[in-house]
Amino acid sequence: MKSQLIPILGDQLSPDIASLRQADKAAAIILMCEVAEEATYVRHHKKKIAFIFSAMRHFANELRQAGWTVDYVALDDTENCGSLRGEVARAVERHGTIAVTITAPGEWRLLEDMQGWPCQPTILSDDRFLCSDSAFAAWAEGRKTLRMEYFYRDMRRATGLLMDGDQPEGGKWNFDHDNRKPARGEQHFPGVPRFAPDALTAEVLALVAERFADHFGDLEPFWFAATRADAQVALAHFIDHALARFGDFQDAMLLKEKFLSHAVLGLYINCGLLDALSVCRAVEAAYRKGHVPLNAAEGFIRQVIGWREYVRGIYWLKMPDYIANNALEATRPLPDFYWTGDTEMACVRACVVQTREEAYAHHIQRLMVTGNFALLAGVDPYAVHQWYLAVYADAYEWVELPNTLGMSQFADGGLLASKPYAASGAYIDRMSDYCKNCSFDVKAKNGAKACPFNYLYWDFLVRHEARLRRNPRMAQMYRTYDKLADDRKLAIAQDAKRFLSNL
Ligand SMILES: Cc1cc2nc3c(=O)[nH]c(=O)nc-3n(C[C@H](O)[C@H](O)[C@H](O)COP(=O)(O)OP(=O)(O)OC[C@H]3O[C@@H](n4cnc5c(N)ncnc54)[C@H](O)[C@@H]3O)c2cc1C
Repeated sequence: MKSQLIPILGDQLSPDIASLRQADKAAAIILMCEVAEEATYVRHHKKKIAFIFSAMRHFANELRQAGWTVDYVALDDTENCGSLRGEVARAVERHGTIAVTITAPGEWRLLEDMQGWPCQPTILSDDRFLCSDSAFAAWAEGRKTLRMEYFYRDMRRATGLLMDGDQPEGGKWNFDHDNRKPARGEQHFPGVPRFAPDALTAEVLALVAERFADHFGDLEPFWFAATRADAQVALAHFIDHALARFGDFQDAMLLKEKFLSHAVLGLYINCGLLDALSVCRAVEAAYRKGHVPLNAAEGFIRQVIGWREYVRGIYWLKMPDYIANNALEATRPLPDFYWTGDTEMACVRACVVQTREEAYAHHIQRLMVTGNFALLAGVDPYAVHQWYLAVYADAYEWVELPNTLGMSQFADGGLLASKPYAASGAYIDRMSDYCKNCSFDVKAKNGAKACPFNYLYWDFLVRHEARLRRNPRMAQMYRTYDKLADDRKLAIAQDAKRFLSNL
């Protein structure tokens, strides 16, 4: 007789997740369900939905092979009621009196819902992260500013990663200074391993093609890993072929190189196919064996045990209010070209088209192109958040929201970023080859042919002067603006007005 029901969510595909660790195989039923509500509360990219459903089906099989009883509700099961709450209620009815135990979800919305489920589930904290919610709250307590760098050092000490006794390996905590090289087209980048869909994935692709035809994004070619074993292959490929230059070209962008030396592992880590700490240990081992330089290993590990843990800490510390932040009072609707790619700005077009094709863009494409444009144009940060949450295969609210609302849109007023990530076309030109193919002229400051980032940048500073001029990190830019001739200032205001009113 089974006495425990354990719902496993689509981003909880780890065999040692808290709810499975405490369960008795003989007494437990694992419940997994593909529900329309989760696939459509934002209209997720087709590749993302296919990835999660396929990874879920493969994980269910792994669990069965390991001796668990799995009750799997597929999206097209006739009785599927479409919501998680409803499916758990149906399972409770199917299996008789049963205690429900679940690992806490990654989104506030779901946690709040679960707390009201009539079956009164026991909710276990998700200990796949290095820093628990309460440890982060204790770290944040009483600090004037919550800067990532100090948090990161504590994580290095706690994990022992790249430590030399109690000192950081190489004598410095952070080698970011070495990590800002632009890339050139002639450099060789290894690309990502591509996994041919197996029969299970093929079934999911057919289902997604039929049910989510009107969602954003190209479903095929579908090449993501859907199993733990294939995700390990992707990790090994990154360490062997890309990691050594991860640091060097972390901020670079090239039209024909979608992945450069990035890991493209976020989607696997975030849904549980890879474990974040094990990934970092593998990266550290490559450094210790002399296969990769310190700036690469440190740069990667900082992203995972620093930024990833830090944004999660901020999310749980500040939700539910955080999502409504709009410090810059931005209200413009998201321009249509975020969905169509139909814009003359070559950089925005490249990032949107790549996003549509791959459900992937790397950090600088997200931050300094699509994010930067939305910031300068004053787009409503909630709309920007919904876009990022929908379009990337690695997007879950706990990680996406602080990155979008805080880091990229400055909508939390500087809690997460010490200054807005705003930049003119010169930055994009320096770090990419996009401007070469643009119908705007990145060298021109004003006029119909000038790169819109150029005048929108100054216009943004003017619009937000009351808040930003007193920020010491912005002082230099305001001094530069102050020195511009009056006719240039007038041209900036007129160009920005013309461009924004035509958006
Ligand atoms: C506006 C915006 C939205 C974002 N939305 C998401 C999101 O929904 N999900 C997501 O995982 N990341 C998000 N990021 C962070 C980052 O862009 C992605 O983690 C990264 O691009 C994933 O690609 P990768 O695996 O190739 O990462 P790499 O660049 O190779 O980095 C390695 C790993 O470090 C971690 N990482 C790097 N930067 C961050 C960061 N800022 N926050 C958290 N983890 C980080 C990820 O686990 C990533 O896989 C966002 C960033 C911005 C600016």
